[in-house]
Amino acid sequence: MSRRTPIIIAALAGAVAITGCDTGDDELTVYSARQDHLIKPILERFMEETGTPVRFVTDDAGPLMERLKAEGERTPADMLLTVDAGNLHQATENDLLAEVDSETLRERIPEHLRDPEDRWFGLSVRARPIMYSPERVDPEELDTYAGLADEKWEGRLCVRTSQQVYNQSLVAMLLHHHGEEETTRIVEGWVDNLATSPFSNDTSVLEAIEAGQCDVGITNTYYLGRLLRDDPDFPVEVFWPDQDGHGAHVNVSGAGITRHASNPEAARELLEWLASDSAQEQFAALNLEYPAVEGVEWDPIVQEWGEFKPDTINVSEAGRLQRQATMLMDRAGYR
Ligand code: FE
Repeated sequence: MSRRTPIIIAALAGAVAITGCDTGDDELTVYSARQDHLIKPILERFMEETGTPVRFVTDDAGPLMERLKAEGERTPADMLLTVDAGNLHQATENDLLAEVDSETLRERIPEHLRDPEDRWFGLSVRARPIMYSPERVDPEELDTYAGLADEKWEGRLCVRTSQQVYNQSLVAMLLHHHGEEETTRIVEGWVDNLATSPFSNDTSVLEAIEAGQCDVGITNTYYLGRLLRDDPDFPVEVFWPDQDGHGAHVNVSGAGITRHASNPEAARELLEWLASDSAQEQFAALNLEYPAVEGVEWDPIVQEWGEFKPDTINVSEAGRLQRQATMLMDRAGYR
């Protein structure tokens, strides 16, 4: 995700007018690390349907959490909405989120996609499978994330940098399943197989596969979805790894209610609303992700990649093992 200038939008549609910096009694403030265009249409709909005015502040997860910490009890934020269980886990480590007692959320959000202590809830699922060139790779040759360490992929693999949270979470899950020694072997194998230095973002990995610089990579599916939306013939395909084992790595975007929310009741109402079928469908489709709630329709582009078996270890495990994963990647020479 790119660095963005923090912006504040006071949205007014169908809601009580917000004047100046006044925060009305029933107004909700959301700190959001999701890009504006992915969250604004949803919050506008919530305002139209409920009449609760919502104000949101957009920035990257790190700065938003720093801000919450610095503001303490004086924070205007009622809700933190961010991507990656690693970030959500950090928010709980810093005691920034309060426990939410909601039967609706416990029923609707699958157990592995929410905090075991109910401090955050996954709202969309982001799958991170193997991507490959159908021109140069027979999918029969692919099987697991660990398989990408095989020497047959020498000089053919592209990855995103280990400095970014997505691969930290992926390696954290490998650590959970395979332990330190085997995961080190896998990551060292990936490094040996790299076609070029790690890229700063997932889109570059996909474009490198398209350009023939590499044959396989690992990225979130919605980045491929965006490229396919512009060019339906974009020559990269999804391979679902570990389907006979633990399943493909998934992560979440999710939200929780802040420890010092001034309007926790309305924040809970928004969280529950975000878990409704129609909000789920829109929330996921805006970024070509998967709804967290089962049975909600997928976007047609997403449907093209087919059903898959996701890893159902609680995503908070990725947060818990993140530091260990980062150190392991560093030792393995994965930059
Ligand atoms: Fe992303």
